[in-house]
Amino acid sequence: MMLSARVLQRVLRPNWRVLSCYSYGTVAKPKPHLNPDIQFNQIFINNEWHDSVSGKTFPTINPATGEKICDVAEGDKADVDKAVVAAQEAFQLGSAWRTMDASDRGVLINKLADLMERDRDYLASLETLDNGKPFHVAHAADLSLSIKCLRYYAGWTDKIHGKTIPIDGDYFCYTRHEPVGVCGQIIPWNFPLLMLCWKLGPALATGNTIVMKPAEQTPLTALYVANLIKEAGFPPGVVNMIPGYGPTAGAAIAEHMDVEKVAFTGSTEVGHIIQQAAGKSNLKKVTLELGGKSPNIIFSDADMHDAVEQSHFGLFFNQGQCCCAGSRTFVHESVYDEFVERSVERAKKRTIGNPFDDSNEQGPQVDEEQMNKILHLIDSGKKEGAKLLIGGNRYGDKGYFIEPTVFADVQDNMRIAKEEIFGPVMQIMKFKDINEVIKRANTTTYGLAAAVHTTDINKAIMIANGVRAGTVWVNCYDVFTTQAPFGGYKMSGSGRELGEYGLEAYTEVKTVTLKIPQKNS
Ligand code: NAD
Ligand code: MG
Repeated sequence: MMLSARVLQRVLRPNWRVLSCYSYGTVAKPKPHLNPDIQFNQIFINNEWHDSVSGKTFPTINPATGEKICDVAEGDKADVDKAVVAAQEAFQLGSAWRTMDASDRGVLINKLADLMERDRDYLASLETLDNGKPFHVAHAADLSLSIKCLRYYAGWTDKIHGKTIPIDGDYFCYTRHEPVGVCGQIIPWNFPLLMLCWKLGPALATGNTIVMKPAEQTPLTALYVANLIKEAGFPPGVVNMIPGYGPTAGAAIAEHMDVEKVAFTGSTEVGHIIQQAAGKSNLKKVTLELGGKSPNIIFSDADMHDAVEQSHFGLFFNQGQCCCAGSRTFVHESVYDEFVERSVERAKKRTIGNPFDDSNEQGPQVDEEQMNKILHLIDSGKKEGAKLLIGGNRYGDKGYFIEPTVFADVQDNMRIAKEEIFGPVMQIMKFKDINEVIKRANTTTYGLAAAVHTTDINKAIMIANGVRAGTVWVNCYDVFTTQAPFGGYKMSGSGRELGEYGLEAYTEVKTVTLKIPQKNS
């Protein structure tokens, strides 16, 4: 049965309207697999499944229960070396991949999107099991955006144009936008499938080959997609998937002399390591999508119901595990008390528990380490004198759940106002005027996203121009579409993903100059 986006919005809970900033198109009615069968837990190289060279494995955990789902082959430097050789061979001049018509690359990417659509219920279930995000969100948001991302880049394959350039002299000069070569891609656990598609889409569209490492917390959907890549008919070696840990498998990719580019999404701390590894090895190209401490600014003329709802969504969505979470909520002093009260009311209503139960908006944090890090930061907020209005504790005693938490009277110098919490913890601060709030919004080493809520277009534009961030949302939050670029200023990263801009990092520009023979020569 196919449901239109409008029907879906009506049948789901009222707060679904907020999630509807994602555009779903039509989606089949979700049917969760409560115990998804684990089909793939090895290393994928050359379209074949392998144990790790060391024979080691690591467990992947269901964060809703703390129980092991299965063991997964633990890739390391030796496995990365094998994968790079496979990716180099697939990239050889004359290979099936290099000689394929660009339009046929698009057909393959679309085929992969079709297979993900076919297996959407299973993939969303596997994502929920391994990551903990609510199934109905994984199905509607993560899967839709992932599939749309692939389809968008499938359309680009035969539209990667160079230029003809009227250079001085008797020459014909043109540029070719060629693939970079073997690309290393290291992805995080907060949106395992979506980050995989953000990375695969532009790299495949431009004809590169790939060695990818999914996060150790969430390897399962990436491995399933690897098998769909084989089923879609991609030549062996074009995509290789190495589950494993960061300091071993991840570092081996970043340091590799034959990897021409590395794309990383994760913490700013590891972003430094990746960039240094590139600098110390072969100066591979680097793109980084890192952390954030994004300001979300509410003026007194905002529609208060909307501002409260969007701010709640902008912080709590995905258990607060979003690089662009609106984690510094600045509220004008004239509406501060009302906003705080209504935000606490909204947080009280937030439903939390079993992520396979559609009535829950919030599942567990991804692992015990993240849960403890968040609880530690909540503690620091209390100690530094912020006013804890709701939450602040672990929820239940099984799995890694945290109560929706709201702090008011937060000061800019507190740790909870400066550090990325990556959890369901809201910080509300007070401001007096627009110049002050722009200055405070920019007093951070990060610059990923920002939002402003106002009905005054002049204020909206002043904020949009004044904040140093790669994305600004006006009267909305977390509006992600595959057509528009996303990325960070300052220590939130370098380079852009998505949209046409997202292609740049995956192409080299070659200038070809031909001498035009003169009539009399
Ligand atoms: P992380 O940066 O350690 O992990 C992200 C990815 O990088 C994973 O695949 C990991 O295995 C890999 N990695 C880790 N160390 C590496 C190394 N030395 N070389 C190469 N690859 C390496 O993130 P984390 O430890 O899982 O989470 C820590 C914090 O990072 C979170 O609390 C959050 O603040 C932030 N984070 C941000 C994002 C984001 O989307 N920007 C995603 C995940 C985590
Ligand atoms: Mg880590």
